Amino acid sequence: MMCSERPPVCHGRIQAQDAEGSTSETGWRFDEEHHISRDAAEPPIGEIKMIRVSASGLRFALCSLFLLVAASSTAAEDVALTFDDLPVYGPRGTIEEATALTDKLTRGLMRHHLPAIGFVNEIQLEGADRALRIALLRRWLDAGMDLGNHSYSHLSLDHTPVEVYIADVARGEAITSALLEERGQKERWYRYPYLETGTTMDVRDRFEGWLGVHGYRVAPVTMENGDWEFADRYDEALARHDKSDARRIRRAYLDFTGQVVAWYRGAGLQLLGRRPSFVFLLHASRLNAASIGSLAKILRRQHLRAVSLDQAMTDPAYAIADTYIGPDGDEWLTRWSLTLHKELPWSTLPQVPELYARPEAPSYHPSQ
Ligand SMILES: [Zn+2]
Repeated sequence: MMCSERPPVCHGRIQAQDAEGSTSETGWRFDEEHHISRDAAEPPIGEIKMIRVSASGLRFALCSLFLLVAASSTAAEDVALTFDDLPVYGPRGTIEEATALTDKLTRGLMRHHLPAIGFVNEIQLEGADRALRIALLRRWLDAGMDLGNHSYSHLSLDHTPVEVYIADVARGEAITSALLEERGQKERWYRYPYLETGTTMDVRDRFEGWLGVHGYRVAPVTMENGDWEFADRYDEALARHDKSDARRIRRAYLDFTGQVVAWYRGAGLQLLGRRPSFVFLLHASRLNAASIGSLAKILRRQHLRAVSLDQAMTDPAYAIADTYIGPDGDEWLTRWSLTLHKELPWSTLPQVPELYARPEAPSYHPSQ
């Protein structure tokens, strides 16, 4: 069976369609003006095309059949939405832009009854407009969302001495934990930048020991859609004032998301023999702010029910040991497959189209 290893690059076939629709056509928000309904264009779940070039023969047919059957089930799984790199993923922009992005994202989440948690890099709060940047985090809490720690400056544990890394994470809770405490809440979740968890067991144990002593749990990821790759292209198109390219990128992003969410549902079922709760990695990007209604629709069509991270983490799957030690920033289905010595259906994993894929690690622009 070839469903064994994550393939290098497999060219996805993207279907043209649009979504979201709403207002403004100035600056980075212009993409919101499209009104083409996604209802007519989005394929029914059972018809999602998982067929990729380079796959062949019986192996592929079996994998595709499995995914179609898995994805067409009406069973509801829980999914926790998590947004990294708060307050703003990508170019820093003006405080007015950052406020508009935050409002659009959090109001969209509220409108569609989607609980979420945002993971903060407090380095982004530095600067002359510090108080206003901190107010962006308050908007997340005002909207009923949770906040977590994503380190101060988005370091990788793979490339940072553990003492330095711990100091950075400790520095990264100063404001966020105070904001939570104002509301009688506590900061409890940590998300590894780049999902890089260290290259030796000693480093991992030392850091996660520190996390435990300080009341944190690791927030794993069991569903992702490469949103940062599309978001980088989207931000570039907005900077060029290239409206049609921004629209095309967003269509491709939503098409890909529909495909990859179906894949994760099937992969989770194959790995565990039942449907687990998912933790979905997203970013606080302009692209997601412009797409939250369409993302909500994709979740509904995939029979996914949005819940808090706390709720999703009650699934016993999250007690499976993460035994992976190495340089790859893999999500946790991959890690569990290593622990359980069971394969995931890699041959049918939809790939981010080459046009949007970025070979390097996610960029981070604290100085922009
Ligand atoms: Zn991040």
